[in-house]
Amino acid sequence: MTKLFGITRKTIVAAVLLSAACVFGLLLSSCGAKQNSTDTDEVPLKKPEVEIKADDAYMTEAIEEALVGIYNGHGGPFGCVIVKDGKIVGRGHNMVLKNNDSTAHGEISAIRDAEQALRTYDLSGCVLYTTGEPCPMCLYAILWANIDKVYYGCTIEDNASIGFRDEEFDDLAGGRDSMKDFLTCIDRDACLKLFETYNNLEHSIY
Ligand SMILES: [Zn+2]
Repeated sequence: MTKLFGITRKTIVAAVLLSAACVFGLLLSSCGAKQNSTDTDEVPLKKPEVEIKADDAYMTEAIEEALVGIYNGHGGPFGCVIVKDGKIVGRGHNMVLKNNDSTAHGEISAIRDAEQALRTYDLSGCVLYTTGEPCPMCLYAILWANIDKVYYGCTIEDNASIGFRDEEFDDLAGGRDSMKDFLTCIDRDACLKLFETYNNLEHSIY
């Protein structure tokens, strides 16, 4: 009886261990499968066919970021880098079409990238470079993030000239004329070349 009970208990323990091993194995293989499928599903980003140089090295980086976005159909020609102590700490481009996310503007993507990298929600001491003057949503996100200074390439009017609605939202927010020291236009010509490149590509207006 004891022996029988002993055998039964051993059998149960063995069965439990075997099942645990199977579950563990299944988990491992499903994780592996998932990892592999993500690897194979990932479409490599297309390399931009043009290179646009701005006078400012950080604006050149922002343009580069925008070019990656437009050549891959992610969204409009808006790229952005965030700089702290002379180093790029965050970057992003417009991902509205790719993510079906109307808030995925270049500046928002770059702010999220910088805050994740620096593990803080406070970007004091940072300077933001963006190819198009920030829309009201991004401008207020920039202020929420405590960013010190903004350099933009194309103006709000330039954004409107390629079909974006920033200007009409701006009227709701009451204008930005009082922020000229905070928002400064640089490298407009280089950024206009970017807009022209975008306009010559097939693209959706949103
Ligand atoms: Zn925006």
